[in-house]
Amino acid sequence: MNANLLGFRCTLCGATYHPSEVQYTCPLDRGNLDALYDYEKIARCLDPYAMITSADRSIWHYAPLLPETLPEPNPATPLGRLGWSPLYRATRLESRVGIHAAWLKDDSRLPSSSFKDRASAMVIAHALATGARTICTASTGNAASSLATLCAGTNLHAIIFVPQSTPEGKLAQTLIHGASVYAVQGSYDDAFELASQACYKYGWYNRSTGINPYTREGKKTAAYEIYQQLGHIPDVVVVPVGDGNIISGLHKGFRDLCAIGHATRVPRIIGVTAELAPALYRAWKAGGEIIETVPSRTTASGISVDLPRDGIMALRAVRETGGVFVEVSDQEMLDAMRTVAREAGVFTEPASASGYAGLVKALQSGVIQKGEEVVLQLTGGGLKDVGAALTAVGSCVITIDPQKDWMAQISE
Ligand SMILES: *Cc1c(COP(=O)(O)O)cnc(C)c1O
Ligand SMILES: [Zn+2]
Repeated sequence: MNANLLGFRCTLCGATYHPSEVQYTCPLDRGNLDALYDYEKIARCLDPYAMITSADRSIWHYAPLLPETLPEPNPATPLGRLGWSPLYRATRLESRVGIHAAWLKDDSRLPSSSFKDRASAMVIAHALATGARTICTASTGNAASSLATLCAGTNLHAIIFVPQSTPEGKLAQTLIHGASVYAVQGSYDDAFELASQACYKYGWYNRSTGINPYTREGKKTAAYEIYQQLGHIPDVVVVPVGDGNIISGLHKGFRDLCAIGHATRVPRIIGVTAELAPALYRAWKAGGEIIETVPSRTTASGISVDLPRDGIMALRAVRETGGVFVEVSDQEMLDAMRTVAREAGVFTEPASASGYAGLVKALQSGVIQKGEEVVLQLTGGGLKDVGAALTAVGSCVITIDPQKDWMAQISE
């Protein structure tokens, strides 16, 4: 445990706990917990210049701001060197949508090809520190493949509960790295419930998003990287939202930078949800913090949730930064996937491409201005869901018979 970690605060009732007192949610009301740090001490001890110029570009070089680090950091392993995903300037997308600056923060370049690696790494660090042997998670596919990837080469075994609809690519990743996989005949939310019960019964460490307070602490490292890579805070960050843990992580990361005196403001944070997974969007429209379960029907697996497990912190990320939520249709995500692939050269899965679809809508409605600088957070690679890519392009492979007059069928 990092000595700068003071404890955890319940996001519902505000009760605070010493790190040794709690494992998952608040014992009083099951609210999610948020890690608390001694920012003054961090600011005093942390040399900002050293952090920025450090040769180590893994997330572990932010150690003073993390709840846990690896016992034996080995930069020659995926777990040890994870982080510093590329930030690309997408000039063709800028001219296409008419915006001053658009950057792609491409987390599909992390070891398992999704943003989930930041969270899994932090959970694994804590599991190793506490001597756990088995980590379990519910997942729509990426948390699963991420946990399996990063547990490989450690003594930890990963046990996964996914809905049956999980894309094959994500399952293949999970299986090849040696995890045990249970496909639940039901939704992600059903898988979530089963994973919780199995963890309780067998004493496995539960990585599931929302209830595990370490995932947000890993995810916040993307905000630090954006700040370091750009050299300043952008005007807007656009984030795909399922459970709401990525968006709450980015919010936390930017607030941390202010708390230690590096940055003086946070960007507006815009959350993008699927029209067919509307629970969080409805709660945001309604104005409070009450989130009701709505069955999801979106085919964008990464953001297909009925009840967002970090929804309250997601609402706060948007409201406290002056952002908005934007809804996009499944078709708009597929179109965005094609556009980002063709104009920026980045192959990204539907949930991840939702950010670009959301940017287009936010520009149309005026919540993002043309003169602004925007970072689109990409969250998962396109090869994970090949079926979606083929749907996005339609059927365009032309079969030719080399024995026949094939040349006549070829055109530029
Ligand atoms: C998990 C995921 C998201 C959403 O993250 P949450 O923390 O659930 O909001 C977005 N895109 C992809 C590809 C994901 O796997
Ligand atoms: Zn509480």
